[in-house]
Amino acid sequence: MENLEYKNKNAWFRLQKPEVMDFAEGYKEFISKNKTEREVVNFAIGEAEKAGFKDLFLESYSGEDFFAVNDLKSVLIFKNGKADITQGINIVVAHIDSPRIDIKQNPLYEKFDVALLKTHYYGGIKKYQWATIPLAIHGVVILKSGEKVELSLGESPEDPVFVISDLLPHLGRKQMEKPAREVIEGEALDPIIGSIPEKGKDGKESVKKAVLEILHREYGLVEEDFISAEITLVPAGVARDVGFDKGAILSYGHDDKICAYAAFRGLLDTNIPERAALVMLMDKEEIGSEGTTGSQSDFLEYALEKYMKASGISGISVREVLHRSFALSADVNAAIDPLYPEVFEEQNAAKFGHGIVVTKFTGSGGKYNSSDASAELVYAIRKLFNDNEVPWQIGELGKVDVGGGGTIAKFLARRGIETIDAGPALLSMHAPHEIASKADLYASYEAYRVFLSKKIELIK
Ligand SMILES: [Zn+2]
Repeated sequence: MENLEYKNKNAWFRLQKPEVMDFAEGYKEFISKNKTEREVVNFAIGEAEKAGFKDLFLESYSGEDFFAVNDLKSVLIFKNGKADITQGINIVVAHIDSPRIDIKQNPLYEKFDVALLKTHYYGGIKKYQWATIPLAIHGVVILKSGEKVELSLGESPEDPVFVISDLLPHLGRKQMEKPAREVIEGEALDPIIGSIPEKGKDGKESVKKAVLEILHREYGLVEEDFISAEITLVPAGVARDVGFDKGAILSYGHDDKICAYAAFRGLLDTNIPERAALVMLMDKEEIGSEGTTGSQSDFLEYALEKYMKASGISGISVREVLHRSFALSADVNAAIDPLYPEVFEEQNAAKFGHGIVVTKFTGSGGKYNSSDASAELVYAIRKLFNDNEVPWQIGELGKVDVGGGGTIAKFLARRGIETIDAGPALLSMHAPHEIASKADLYASYEAYRVFLSKKIELIK
C-alpha cells in the first residue's frame, strides 16, 4: 500500500559513514587553510589547473573547460557538457566571503601602553561573540613601492594571535544591563597588537612605534601602507570535530565555504555532464552582493560572452542561454536549535543531519525580498534528489515574522535563470565558530554533483 504520509529520515541512515567521514577530512583541511575570499580563489585556481581547466582569459583559450577569475576575489569554474551551451547551463552559486572584522585604513594607535588597531566589522555579526577569542590576521598590503605583501599570522601554533579585550564582570555591572547589540560597541572591536615600548628616534618611548618597527622589519611596511591594504581578523585555528561521535564540525566560515567546497568538488567529480555545468564562487554576499565581485555584477555574462566567442558559438545571445539555465543558490540555512526551538516552526524548519535543505523562498515578512521558486522547479529538484537518493529536506528559515534573511538566489533569478536555494543547515550561523553536520556536508556534495551532471526539465 502506498505510504500517504511524508516523513523525513535522518541522513545518517541513508549514507555510508566511512565515505562521509573521509569527505569531511578534506573539507576540514580546506576550511582551516582558506578563510578569506582571496584564499579560496587561489585554492580553486590551483585545483582547477590540476584538473585540466584552462584560464578563460589566456590568449590561447579556445573553448575548453575553464576557470575565470574576477579581481582575485571571485571565480567561475565551467565544464563543457554533452549538449552545448545553447541548451542552457546548470549552475551552482556559493559565496566565499564570511562575516569578519576588517581593519580600518588608518588603524594604528596606542593607549595606556597598549597598541591596537581600529576596525570596522564586515557582515552580520553578534559583536560580543568576537571579544576574548584568539584572532588571526589575513590580508594583503600594497606598499608604497607597489609591491604586494600577503599577510597571514596567527594560524600556526607558534604564531602570536590577536585579541579584543572585554570588561571584567566585577566592573561590568552597567555593561551587562545594555542590550546585547551594545554590550560590545562597534568601535570597541579593536584587537591588541603589541605591549612592549621602545625608544624612538625622538627619544620618546612608544609601543606604537615599536610595532611599526616590527612591521617594517618583517614586511617592509610603513604606516601609510595601511591605506592601501585589505587586512582582516578571523578566528584563529583549525576546524575541529564535535561530539563523542565526531558527527559534526566546528569551524569559522562554514557560511558559505561549506557550499563552495561541496559544489567545487561536485563539479570536479562530474565526468562529462549532460549539459554545461558551472560553479560560481562569489564575493560580497554578506554585504549585499555588491561590487565588481558580487553576484549583482555582470561578470557571468562577460565570461560567457568570452567563452562563446572562443568556442565559435553564435546565433544565440547570452541572455537566451541564461533563460534556458537552472541554478542552485548554494547557501546555508539554519538548523532548528535544541536550545532555542521557539524561533523555529518545527514542521517546516530544517533539521540538523537531515541532509541538504531545499528552500523555496527566503526573505522576511510577507516573503519580502525573496525570488520564491515555482512549484514546477521545486518538483524538478524533488524528483532529481529522490531519483538519485540524495538525502534532502525542505526547510524554511525561522517562524513567520520572527526575522529572515536573503541569499544570492534573487540575483540569478532576475537574469531569467530558474533558481532555488539549497544548502546544509548550520547551528550558530554567523558566530565566529559555526557548527555543521558531516552528513549534511556530504549530502550537499551529492546534491550539487547530481544537479551539475544531469539534465533538469520543468514539467509544463
Ligand atoms: Zn551565506
